[in-house]
Amino acid sequence: MKHKTKEIIHDLIIIGAGPAGLSASIYASRYGIKHKIIGAVLGGQISETHKIDNYPGMEDMNGYEFGQRWGNHAKKYGVEIISQIVQKIKKENNIFILTLANENILQAKTILLATGTKKRKLNISGEKEFLGKGVSYCATCDGFFYKNKIVGVIGGSDSAATTVLYLADLAQKVYLIYRKSELHAEPFWVESIKKNKKIEVLYNTNVLEILGQEKLEKVKLDKNYNNSNELNLDGLFIEAGSDPAVEYFSELGIELDEGGYIKIQKNGATNISGVFSAGDITDGSDKFRQVITAASEGAIAVRGIYNFLKKNKS
Ligand SMILES: Cc1cc2nc3c(=O)[nH]c(=O)nc-3n(C[C@H](O)[C@H](O)[C@H](O)COP(=O)(O)OP(=O)(O)OC[C@H]3O[C@@H](n4cnc5c(N)ncnc54)[C@H](O)[C@@H]3O)c2cc1C
Repeated sequence: MKHKTKEIIHDLIIIGAGPAGLSASIYASRYGIKHKIIGAVLGGQISETHKIDNYPGMEDMNGYEFGQRWGNHAKKYGVEIISQIVQKIKKENNIFILTLANENILQAKTILLATGTKKRKLNISGEKEFLGKGVSYCATCDGFFYKNKIVGVIGGSDSAATTVLYLADLAQKVYLIYRKSELHAEPFWVESIKKNKKIEVLYNTNVLEILGQEKLEKVKLDKNYNNSNELNLDGLFIEAGSDPAVEYFSELGIELDEGGYIKIQKNGATNISGVFSAGDITDGSDKFRQVITAASEGAIAVRGIYNFLKKNKS
């Protein structure tokens, strides 16, 4: 049965409880904007990592604890965080109508889309089990933990190429494992990889399985390398691309860039009046998708929302 809460029209509903959504909520509370957060995972992607060590003033933080702290800070101002998935959004008479997975319906004058991205998974054995225990989707975040170690990177695009070069500055040896016969990265990156003695590219190779006990120890390949189909690694970075979480608002007609990310203006506004966006899901950070950039965009968007609500007061 649908639980309609149609009579309440919120000033703002924030979708996403990661750094962008939670930072937006703190600012919204302080601006006096009545709002709610709908977010499937409190803390967002940071909750997945064992350590965050590049957020100023927060040294050596456990990712889960970091996410909980952000949640508690937002809740201190009284916001309700609904642990749900938004399945659909439509706009009727300048009001946004959100349908949640539990079939509840919420209404708002403005919405902030802060649902981040989902790293494309390989869906191979061990990938989920060793996430944060050797498997990572973010080299700028976790690369530091592999100083002088042996790591692998899966992929062949620009993001895989920049990841492998970044890791080569830290690690003892980096294997770039790619399923095709040539890399599909910018020629500059390809040349830099060729010149770097720490990097070895395994072409036409797929990782079939990630193996280990408490943490990742090796990967199983679909062909032999040095007479073995197993490669010993301390870390494995998966760079198979990422997909912005955009399916649930497809009805709204929001303008996306060529990668599927939401195009935003300087104040976080999208092309649809009343829809704002922040964090990894936008094109706002020059593809530098980090906690600090997501949080900043969340704060900026709230000022845009505040001005919008003031201008459109009924
Ligand atoms: C393993 C790992 C380690 C990382 N380490 C670092 C690091 O050390 N330093 C750093 O700066 N960055 C790090 N990052 C990157 C950082 O986590 C992201 O840049 C940041 O979390 C982006 O914040 P966001 O709020 O835009 O999105 P996210 O953190 O992705 O949050 C999105 C939120 O939206 C919710 N959501 C998604 N779809 C829906 C829906 N339909 N309905 C309701 N809710 C929805 C999610 O559950 C989540 O709450 C790391 C990322 C990973 C994966």
